[in-house]
Amino acid sequence: MRNDLRRRVLVTGGAGFLGSHLCERLLADGHDVLCVDNFFTGTKDNVAHLLGHSHFEVMRHDVTFPLYVEVDDIYNFACPASPIHYQHDPVQTTKTSVHGAINMLGLAKRLRARILQASTSEVYGDPEVHPQREGYWGRVNPIGPRACYDEGKRCAETLFFDYWRQHRLRIKVARIFNTYGPRMHPNDGRVVSNFIVQALAGKPITIYGDGRQTRSFCYVDDLIEGIVRLMGTPDDFTGPVNLGNPAELTIRELAEKVITLTGSRSKIETRPLPQDDPIQRQPDIALARAQLGGWTPRVALEDGLRKTIAYFEALLRGRGAAPAG
Ligand code: NAD
Ligand code: UDP
Repeated sequence: MRNDLRRRVLVTGGAGFLGSHLCERLLADGHDVLCVDNFFTGTKDNVAHLLGHSHFEVMRHDVTFPLYVEVDDIYNFACPASPIHYQHDPVQTTKTSVHGAINMLGLAKRLRARILQASTSEVYGDPEVHPQREGYWGRVNPIGPRACYDEGKRCAETLFFDYWRQHRLRIKVARIFNTYGPRMHPNDGRVVSNFIVQALAGKPITIYGDGRQTRSFCYVDDLIEGIVRLMGTPDDFTGPVNLGNPAELTIRELAEKVITLTGSRSKIETRPLPQDDPIQRQPDIALARAQLGGWTPRVALEDGLRKTIAYFEALLRGRGAAPAG
């Protein structure tokens, strides 16, 4: 890439699961990447392979505090994303979403930078509309245990659109649906990592509730492609836009697939369903297909699971990591 096309890009949460894949992709595209992270759920290991790259920098920083750097684009990914992690310190989770958004929007305003928010399907809560379209306002319990995340992300979206209306900022809002792949945290309690780690360790696979609740899982490479394309859309396209894979299945079906693909002898056990756990979730991605140059997820669940299983096998062998409970 020619130097005049090289952009200075800030990725907050860049040492996390999605952020590290995004940093990798942006470097491969020839950009100058600044990864900012407080390492709450992310780790230096996720970006260790990028540290020798002359256009990559890592800065330890908490986005709830102001940040003074000079960049052209901002991807705001900082926020714990798994229920166990975001409920560990719910006040900090809301602060990360809300104060983090204010700080990053303020930075974008000073620099006239483009800014993309990693929002979430959780803004739809436990939805009565299926599949979920961007025009649906959602059904979120504002005082439940998931609210710190759901309402924090909803407020961040509000802030993005107010900065757009009030200050004409160049914003993009992606509503990301369940995404999985290598570099998920082995102990973050999310269903894909939990099931794979449990299956590899020969421990019981823990289904919460009766396992008939559904999710639609997107492989990380497909998601990152959508995110990068979204940032490249014309300024008048702000989103919000759903990004995810519409292939929906029940959690029980996922457990069975993981058992088959790992060749595990693990048995399925049930546990109580956590409060406010959404019953169904599937993205309507018509808007993304239309606006993002025909973007569509390409990696089938079984292929993505195989790659993720290979990652966790290597991780567990290398570190002797304890399986997720
Ligand atoms: P993750 O926990 O792996 O990554 C989050 C990163 O943010 C971590 O590196 C963490 O250390 C960092 N972080 C947390 N609080 C911070 C703070 N105050 N200051 C600086 N850094 C901070 O999770 P992920 O799955 O990679 O999610 C990344 C983003 O994508 C999050 O904003 C999440 O809400 C969003 N998202 C993810 C999914 C998914 O399925 N993975 C779905 C919807 C939305
Ligand atoms: N889940 C499960 N067993 C686990 C972890 C999660 O049955 O060991 C269920 C969880 O109750 C939810 C679904 O899997 O219905 C997805 O959970 P996850 O935490 O991955 O994501 P989210 O609920 O935020 O979509």
